[in-house]
Amino acid sequence: MESTFDIDREWDSPTYREAVAQFERVAELINLDDNVQERLRKPQRSTIVTFPFRRDDYSDVDTLYGYRVQHLLTMGPTKGGIRYAPDVNLGEVAALAMLMTWKCAIVGLPFGGSKGGVRVDPMGLSRAEAQRVTRRYTAEIINVIGPNKDIPAPDMGTNEQTMAWIMDTYSQHVGHAVPAVVTGKPPALGGSIARREATGRGVVTLIPPAAHQVNMAVEGKRVIIQGFGNVGRYAAIAAEEIGMKVVGVSDISTGLYNGQGLEVSKLTDWVDQRTFLRGFPDAEEVSNEGLLELPCDVLIPAALQGVITKANADRIEARLIVEGANSPTTMEADEILRDRGVFTVPDILANAGGVTVSYFEWVQDLQNYFWSENEIVGRLREILHRAFDEVLAIAQQEGVDLRTAALIKGIRRVAAAKLVRGVYP
Ligand code: NAD
Repeated sequence: MESTFDIDREWDSPTYREAVAQFERVAELINLDDNVQERLRKPQRSTIVTFPFRRDDYSDVDTLYGYRVQHLLTMGPTKGGIRYAPDVNLGEVAALAMLMTWKCAIVGLPFGGSKGGVRVDPMGLSRAEAQRVTRRYTAEIINVIGPNKDIPAPDMGTNEQTMAWIMDTYSQHVGHAVPAVVTGKPPALGGSIARREATGRGVVTLIPPAAHQVNMAVEGKRVIIQGFGNVGRYAAIAAEEIGMKVVGVSDISTGLYNGQGLEVSKLTDWVDQRTFLRGFPDAEEVSNEGLLELPCDVLIPAALQGVITKANADRIEARLIVEGANSPTTMEADEILRDRGVFTVPDILANAGGVTVSYFEWVQDLQNYFWSENEIVGRLREILHRAFDEVLAIAQQEGVDLRTAALIKGIRRVAAAKLVRGVYP
């Protein structure tokens, strides 16, 4: 008989189901303690708020939904981005919070995972409206965030400015400036000089060691990047810097392909002036879905979740996928790609550069002592390469793919912490 008290229903959504299934598959594989497994499949704290939002024209007051989910409070404060999207929901936020827990554990950061979101279309907001949404959302979750509790960062649809408004709102409430309450803020407020580009650069940092695994030299190889936001844009810049040819990019407006290579500085100038890639000359316009299947050596999904599915996994030409976005590949697609010999660097490892530099930013804010860009970039590279090597070693020892190995590493670390803390009371 179906249980009427199935607590998982609280977070039920395709993304949450996928995250839990992924966790349980690995938990079984490593014979994880049953009690720990039960605790880790559910987030520890989930906050849902609704709040009023007045548009600039002052006519209507809408009700918006906001979320903040803290998956694991065992190992220190929680850390995770805030996304603004028209379809964000509690289950999606909970799934992403769980992924953040594994991600932090894989690179060895003293954080549990969290995530937040507001269900709103960020493109439909004026600057003043975005500011009102952000300040009110911050006020609604003010009791659950803080430099020692839970530290937000940007994610889809939010940026440095959003973080500055959160920092200001929080600081106004507590009565003094608290830069360490968010990361990914502007450098003028104690933000890290390298945070904006950290995720995209981190993704590209892992291309050479991953390419080595498939006997591929990086120089001159073709890369396609889906998404040209915070992650995709800096991944494109970094890929060009290491001698790769960016042949395809996309954003919400269009996809662009040029087999001879696109000039990344022209693309960035274009979006700086016109916001979207649409209309860019010297390239063929293609659909976002079509872009993923075009000829290339390395594919970097850096926009949305669930874009590589069983429907298109067979047609992907890349030999190497480095996941900039969170959860871009479904479990079914993952299996197809694995069988086809496509080497995947999973999101929880590949895009961990963002949270790593966020960790640096938080440490610097707490100490009021700021590092040089070279120190930040050097330490980032060191942490990511070490994590990659450790995950690869687990993959080889256990005979599993990199995603499974990364999850094994993350879950083992978290489980060990949970077991030594014990159960209160
Ligand atoms: P962003 O909002 O800066 O950029 C998103 C990009 O995706 C934009 O170019 C946008 O036009 C495009 N996009 C949006 N909707 C689309 C659609 N329906 N079809 C095609 N393209 C679409 O976001 P971001 O910070 O670059 O995040 C991208 C992904 O990377 C997300 O999955 C996010 O969770 C993940 N991520 C981001 C960071 C970070 O530091 N920003 C860190 C880790 C993971």
